[in-house]
Amino acid sequence: MNRIDVKRRNVLDHRKKQFADPSYKETQYPHRLNFYSTPPTADITLEQFEQWAIDRLRILAELEACSFRNKTPAETEAHMKPLLEKYLPLSASSSGHSNLHAQRQKDHYSHFILRLAFASTEDLRRRFTRVETMLFRLRFQTDDSRERAAFVRTLNLDWEPVSEEEKRALAPQLATTIGFGYGKRAQQVMDEDWCKVDWIRVPDLIEGRKVFVKAGKAYVPGSAQQSMVLNAFTKRLEQAMELTSRALPRLDEDDRLTPILNHLSKNFIAPDSSYSGSGPAIEGAEITARNIDNLSQHFPMCMAHLHRSLRRDSHLRHFGRLQYMLFLKGIGLNLEESLIFWRSSFNKITDDTFNKEYRYNVRYSYGDVGGDSNRRSGGHSPYSCQKILTEHAPGPGDAHGCPYRHFSMENLTSLLRASGVTDPQVLHGVKEDKESQKYHMACNRVFEHLHRKELKRAKDDGVMTAAQLETIVHPNEYFKRSYLLKNMGKQPQSQQQGDVKMEG
Ligand code: SF4
Repeated sequence: MNRIDVKRRNVLDHRKKQFADPSYKETQYPHRLNFYSTPPTADITLEQFEQWAIDRLRILAELEACSFRNKTPAETEAHMKPLLEKYLPLSASSSGHSNLHAQRQKDHYSHFILRLAFASTEDLRRRFTRVETMLFRLRFQTDDSRERAAFVRTLNLDWEPVSEEEKRALAPQLATTIGFGYGKRAQQVMDEDWCKVDWIRVPDLIEGRKVFVKAGKAYVPGSAQQSMVLNAFTKRLEQAMELTSRALPRLDEDDRLTPILNHLSKNFIAPDSSYSGSGPAIEGAEITARNIDNLSQHFPMCMAHLHRSLRRDSHLRHFGRLQYMLFLKGIGLNLEESLIFWRSSFNKITDDTFNKEYRYNVRYSYGDVGGDSNRRSGGHSPYSCQKILTEHAPGPGDAHGCPYRHFSMENLTSLLRASGVTDPQVLHGVKEDKESQKYHMACNRVFEHLHRKELKRAKDDGVMTAAQLETIVHPNEYFKRSYLLKNMGKQPQSQQQGDVKMEG
């Protein structure tokens, strides 16, 4: 991750030295877990820089979503397992996995890249530290116990191991702090991995009478050491983030990395995604102009509102047209059908006006006209939630945007009720999500409510895939998932996979 152009190194002033002259050191990864004390120094490609960070961000965003949804630790672990395997696998040394080094390197680098992206404001730093700690906890809990103990020993946490003789001598006292039947306790004391620390370092354990204290030292059983390790992880990361934030202004402007880092930090609002492909999104589905009314039952609120506005006014303004047109393109409405759809929807104008004012724009969106690059790229891509949430806020008379963000609570409630969301608990949850600016979480909450029966069936039948577990961050993903769930059993298995990939 060598950030500085070689030619410019010689003229950098001394204050920038820490960024200008990173001494290269081959990093070894003897342990699966990492406290991220040493920044990486080897070169990686820009593509790796971006993709690794995006993959980690995906995981952090899902972890945050789990906590927003009050999932229990067991539910979080079950939810995250397939996603971690997909985006950020990290195998135990004992697994004999041939890719251990590559996995650990990606974990290491992606952590440091996101540090740079999220160090700029206190809010981002706090959130980053919180979710990184959640990720570390998840891995710590699921780590091979012997490998975990070996890792903890490397941390220099100022713990003193308790010798076998001492354990034996203090067995009666130590036994009172672990909750097993009397007969099992003595053996349990010997099996536990005890350590001694200054008692002031574990006030919570002392308060809960979970440790034995002697001569100012608290005897902590292995099972209670996790909270101490996690505290140390959080504390060190907080300090490191603080240092990174102070160093940020001195970071040499790098016109390749700055846009990537800026884009990554925006992804904490709602992770960005692009919708791949403009062909038929769902095999066998009738994606035609005349079927859009019927398909609109699967639309998220942003598109449902645009559709209703279009039907009511026989017109949509510029940004509304663009948002809706690209969404329809993303669900698989081809150019010919799109022209039919827009022509028939704008039914208060003449053919002549349509051809002059609107036809070209539809064709342009599909890459049918315009410059070479527009044609080559196939026109525009459907908008992600992040784009809709953050760009071109709607004004009076506009129908675009995201209702969870841009509607008043009163109007949003009416829209939700009209869409069949009447459960007071769900409406209250949406209100809370909106107030805390977690707009896409509100959208996911509504999705889960409207598809609760199908989701339960899919889970019970074991047909949920990793892609379907991810938080929805794209209107087209909402549509696709809704359509597939409601038509479960009628679709080929290959179509059960989501089609959304992260975009840099
Ligand atoms: Fe549409 Fe995304 Fe808002 Fe949901 S969160 S309504 S999909 S923009």
